[in-house]
Amino acid sequence: MTFRLYNTLSRSVESFTPADGETVRMYTCGPTVYDPAHVGNFRTFLFNDLMRRALRLQGWKVVQVQNLTDVDDKIIKRARDTGKSILEVTEPVTEIFHKDRRYLRIEDAEEYPKATTHIPEMIALVEDLLAKGVAYTAEDGSVYFSIERFPGYGKLSRLDTRELKSGARVAQDDYTKENAQDFALWKAAKEEDEATGAAWDAPFGRGRPGWHLECSAMAMKYLGETLDIHGGGVDLIFPHHEDEIAQSEASTGKPFSRFWCHGEFLQIDGTKMSKRLGNITTVKDLRERGISAAALRHFVYSTHYRKQMNLSGEGLEGSLEAVRRVGEFGHRLDTARGATPELAAVAAQAEKDFREALSDDLNAPEAVAALFMYIQKANAELDRNGSDTSALATAREVFATIDGVLDLRPRVVRLVVGAEAVEPDPATLPDTEPVEQEAIAWAVERLRGRLTARKSRDFAQSDALRAEVEARGFVVKDTALGTQLERWR
Ligand code: AMP
Ligand code: ZN
Repeated sequence: MTFRLYNTLSRSVESFTPADGETVRMYTCGPTVYDPAHVGNFRTFLFNDLMRRALRLQGWKVVQVQNLTDVDDKIIKRARDTGKSILEVTEPVTEIFHKDRRYLRIEDAEEYPKATTHIPEMIALVEDLLAKGVAYTAEDGSVYFSIERFPGYGKLSRLDTRELKSGARVAQDDYTKENAQDFALWKAAKEEDEATGAAWDAPFGRGRPGWHLECSAMAMKYLGETLDIHGGGVDLIFPHHEDEIAQSEASTGKPFSRFWCHGEFLQIDGTKMSKRLGNITTVKDLRERGISAAALRHFVYSTHYRKQMNLSGEGLEGSLEAVRRVGEFGHRLDTARGATPELAAVAAQAEKDFREALSDDLNAPEAVAALFMYIQKANAELDRNGSDTSALATAREVFATIDGVLDLRPRVVRLVVGAEAVEPDPATLPDTEPVEQEAIAWAVERLRGRLTARKSRDFAQSDALRAEVEARGFVVKDTALGTQLERWR
């Protein structure tokens, strides 16, 4: 089965194998860390996560580099407006990014290079482009890339050469196709750059790197002159990726990336959300409303990455329900003692369908459908109470293989809150991130308050506390042992 991916460069689906046959070298543009990433950004990062896991399922190793843009126009403006240095703006936001990413179970990339710690590599690239005559210093001291000197300019975004305005210059990091002009590689230091710690000495003048330059320099440093895959959201095709190609290829004379893969947008504004789910835009919002990582993953993977989608409360509700079924199925497989021999064939078919879906340009909706078909058919076999342990073992393996890519099995944390103690001790819960520990501690405190309220027969207070906890997505049940608290992740 060949693995196929849509390549924006050729506008067609092509067979993919890594250049060296073994390791996929993949660069994915990361967040600009001036504000916490929103759920839309995370759709793109989840697409990258699916990609790396699917590539590994093919038997390849993956080296993924995801940069953190920690100096650019927007960051400097934010620093300026708030009287901070760029570092003071970007450090806390970077921390939130990793926290959110882990909550969504997005695997660690192999490297997360920051632009500000790779300035020498960027300076070297500018010097090379100046030496090769494709870059020039303008009157204001900034260095620009001359798009006229690079014949391939426009090949990714399919810009008509007649639209190119060589000689005219654009200084900002982001601009539209209508302004396809010579772009800034290095921007001469301005007063606000100096004030915010965003200026560095360079042989061609003190200044700071342009956004596009950052990615070219860091991608080539970690992955070599030709990458296997370069990814990001569709908005990056122009100018960001077009300019990355221009800078890198003008310097090396080699193709910068063999495949360019772009994910479509998640629309957030202007959609109706259900009352309980409200206006979710960040991962913090998701967490606070008890939307498990599994549910968001299911929601995102239910649409192909090259199709636009809307974030809707209804859709999220459906995903919460769907992953509950995945969780129940996982539990059933874990606790079964045997199965009918036919379960092995059901599992084999599911794995085949699943692999085929992923090989077909990462068709996640089909892959998710293969999982649910598997759950349905396997449940029917398990209802027949067989005693074949080898068929059961196969079924477990296939479930692990599928969930190793999609990661849709919710993790459930259960606690009993008594008047005296909480069992188990929340601090000892396995696989729970600090943010979750905090949420659980918060809920435990309220449930303790509820026990006290009930003791003094203040039922209004007791009900209010329970409602408050449930509104954050916890499940509360009264049992003989005490109040049971469930958290689905
Ligand atoms: P930024 O932090 O703006 O540099 O964006 C980080 C990544 O998120 C880039 O790959 C963007 O293409 C992507 N992105 C931005 N907005 C959305 C959205 N609404 N839906 C999906 N991806 C997005
Ligand atoms: Zn980039």
